[in-house]
Amino acid sequence: KPVVGNLIGEGHVNYVLMFNMLTGIRVAVSRCQAKIRRSLTDEDYKAAHKYSFDFIGNELTPSTRYDFKFKDYAPWVFRELREDYFQLDPADYLLSLTAKYILSELGSPGKSGSFFYFSRDYRFIIKTIHHSEHKFLRRILKQYHEHVKQNPHTLLSRFYGLHRVKLPRGRKIHFVIMNNLFPPHKDVHETYDLKGSTVGREYPEVKAAQNPRAVLKDLNWINRSKSLELGPEKRALLTEQIRRDAELLKKLHVMDYSLLIGIHNMARGNRDNVRRNTLKVFSPDVPILRRKPTMGQNSKGPSSPEAIAMRRLVRESDPKALDTSHVAPDASERQHFLFYQDDGGLRATDETNESLDTIYYLGIIDILTPYSTVKKLEHYWKGFQADRHKISPVPPEEYADRFFAFMKAIMRGGEGGTRFKSE
Ligand code: ATP
Ligand code: CA
Ligand code: CA
Repeated sequence: KPVVGNLIGEGHVNYVLMFNMLTGIRVAVSRCQAKIRRSLTDEDYKAAHKYSFDFIGNELTPSTRYDFKFKDYAPWVFRELREDYFQLDPADYLLSLTAKYILSELGSPGKSGSFFYFSRDYRFIIKTIHHSEHKFLRRILKQYHEHVKQNPHTLLSRFYGLHRVKLPRGRKIHFVIMNNLFPPHKDVHETYDLKGSTVGREYPEVKAAQNPRAVLKDLNWINRSKSLELGPEKRALLTEQIRRDAELLKKLHVMDYSLLIGIHNMARGNRDNVRRNTLKVFSPDVPILRRKPTMGQNSKGPSSPEAIAMRRLVRESDPKALDTSHVAPDASERQHFLFYQDDGGLRATDETNESLDTIYYLGIIDILTPYSTVKKLEHYWKGFQADRHKISPVPPEEYADRFFAFMKAIMRGGEGGTRFKSE
């Protein structure tokens, strides 16, 4: 499966969905952003702000091409997460996502049916999620927020927003916006999705030989005798962070998450250059924010703080600023984070903590599946003998412990590097 994805132009099956997602994000996020910061209350975690978009527009929403409804969940919580803990500049965030209506679609790389979209500058991923995942994220949001506060260097997915689009015929699409672990500037030469389980966890090596973008799994890692080359210092830091993150997931009864690892080989560099070339093929831009005159006497719309903030954002949207080739790699939010500060990732080191020529891009992903859902899935697959191996549900405690043990073992020097081979 390609890692780069296809640009969504007019006529694409998901064009309207993309258009509505981005319109909703732009309007809802800039509205929240235009208000004066205040401290969070318990209500903020449960909040859901509704917007209704149509051709005419009103004081809250600009006129737009399509009819749809949009919900912004816990906007104040996500605003605080973005600004205080994830170090995102508010204008920058909105511009990356919505200054031009361009996303590329990765399709559905997993079995879950989720779709993935990259922002134009490749920094953000929009993932459509199942309603159960959506409900689960809302339920654990306070604990997630608290964890991020206590663990600024967490490896867990950084959730920047949670939203829903409802299309006229009633289809509801939930989605999150999160960090793309992989860098816009660098080729990723090998990708692994590791769970710490060996059951059915192999991408066929024959196919892998033909597909440099394959997402490899636990058994490929073991059979290729890979290890994370990290000296004592980074090894200790990374181990401790994985331990803490896995503890939280255990407490939340989450399952099925994985450690995603992208490997960039500095000697090989960016000569493949696939991603950057692809992103330069821009589809025709969609004119945005062509606001029709506000209806009725209620003319507070165009001069309301949010309207002003929106106009400012649009004025400031210099398209060149979004082309990733203009952004210095360390000018991004990543420089603030221990595990993302070496060219957006974590540079390999030897036993004396000297740098080696490899950069790892890693994080813990797919963290919204509670055990109860896994059990249901297992039940569903019961009749399908051939598919049963696809899931190996163990209780969350066991999953987390196995996950942590595996991750410790794959770090060079970590004892037990070969322990998993014999399994
Ligand atoms: P399933 O439940 O079947 O595992 P899913 O639809 O929930 O699939 P994920 O496991 O979240 O999907 O992700 C699938 C793949 O997409 C990952 O293996 C990885 O290659 C890519 N991916 C997911 N999240 C990120 C991210 N934050 N950064 C970069 N790549 C990602
Ligand atoms: Ca997954
Ligand atoms: Ca999943």
